[in-house]
Amino acid sequence: MTDCLLVGGGIIGLSLAYELSRRGMTVTLVEQGDWGGQASSAAAGMLAPLKEFSKPGDMLELGVASLRLYPEWVSALQEVSGADVQATPSGVLTVALTEEETASMEKKYRWQKEAGYNVQWMSAREMQELEPLITEHAMAGIYSREEGHINNRLLLAALVLACRNQGVKLLSGCVVTGMATEGTRVVGVQTAAGKLLASHTVITSGAWAGIMAGWLQCPVPIRPVRGQVAAVSSIGFPLQTVIFGTTGYITPKRDGKIVLGATEDEAGFQREVTLSGLTHIVNGVRPYVPALQTAAFLEAWAGLRPATADGKPLLGPVPGWQGISIAAGHFRNGILLSPITAKVMADYLESGQAEPLASFSPARFVQSPAAI
Ligand SMILES: Cc1cc2nc3c(=O)[nH]c(=O)nc-3n(C[C@H](O)[C@H](O)[C@H](O)COP(=O)(O)OP(=O)(O)OC[C@H]3O[C@@H](n4cnc5c(N)ncnc54)[C@H](O)[C@@H]3O)c2cc1C
Repeated sequence: MTDCLLVGGGIIGLSLAYELSRRGMTVTLVEQGDWGGQASSAAAGMLAPLKEFSKPGDMLELGVASLRLYPEWVSALQEVSGADVQATPSGVLTVALTEEETASMEKKYRWQKEAGYNVQWMSAREMQELEPLITEHAMAGIYSREEGHINNRLLLAALVLACRNQGVKLLSGCVVTGMATEGTRVVGVQTAAGKLLASHTVITSGAWAGIMAGWLQCPVPIRPVRGQVAAVSSIGFPLQTVIFGTTGYITPKRDGKIVLGATEDEAGFQREVTLSGLTHIVNGVRPYVPALQTAAFLEAWAGLRPATADGKPLLGPVPGWQGISIAAGHFRNGILLSPITAKVMADYLESGQAEPLASFSPARFVQSPAAI
């Protein structure tokens, strides 16, 4: 019997397993495929809450809190795992191409500045100085110095090593097929290889979390939203900063790739890259850095973002049951939100106090089925 059993070995399951084992709990992590083989390895690895969350509120606060945990989280992780995860505080530049975009960006800049965030308004000339390859049609931008990116595939590998070094029982290639219950208590899970028992089970299965909650007649609205991305070679294109526009993003990585994204398509659980997806990406980034049209194409891939009906993750106990909780539904920001998710979920599992998670509670949907 393990203290905590986590179902799903993406960034969320691995981060939580790592954090719980750091706090002295015994942990088992079960993954049906390869570690991080779904959404978590498909991500572009951007850490950009000020870009992603367009208004003040709990999501922005969660995102900024997580961004600020990153330096210490990464340095401890690198020490335990011996791996470099290429954390890069490159800054993020959001670019406006029209009067209308400039006006709406100005409003965002004003409230972010008033709230004390480290953002800078940039003229066309200043953007050209920062990134000479930016289009001459760029009118204005917000430069956010604090933000940046990480190599999420290296981060996943480092978490696997750290979990292993800290004694987490890692079961990959193991499909969870149902919950093991006694009355209204979840006592573990059923797998193809038999039952696994735990004092507490956590559903960390991303886009599949709704299916698992459904086994407990708890209808939480999580659905897969496919994201397709492409990578080109950075040779000849010395970009430094993450560049965001309304139709696409450009993320120069330290491994010689520039990641271009992304689609948001409703395609169920299909993970194919489509021609229309690639066209969308190419057309989406062209207006911002036209020169990239001649960059060498390297690869394209897709992943399934776990989306909820209100855009917020589900963090906390499954209503109506004991011994089970969920940490899923991180949509476009699971890499960014992994340190804070691990922290707040571990706090809850240690203390049993769910109140700090109230605005992310799965109960918000179960109490009002009309919202599902
Ligand atoms: C194209 C794209 C770009 C993105 N870019 C960014 C970005 O720049 N920054 C950012 O912060 N986020 C980004 N994201 C979002 C981020 O990738 C996700 O929010 C995050 O990976 C979700 O992590 P997860 O662990 O919840 O899900 P997943 O990584 O999908 O992990 C869930 C795991 O559960 C396993 N599982 C499912 N069912 C079972 C079962 N029955 N038994 C056992 N295991 C099971 C799956 O195999 C899977 O490995 C991006 C996503 C995509 C697709």
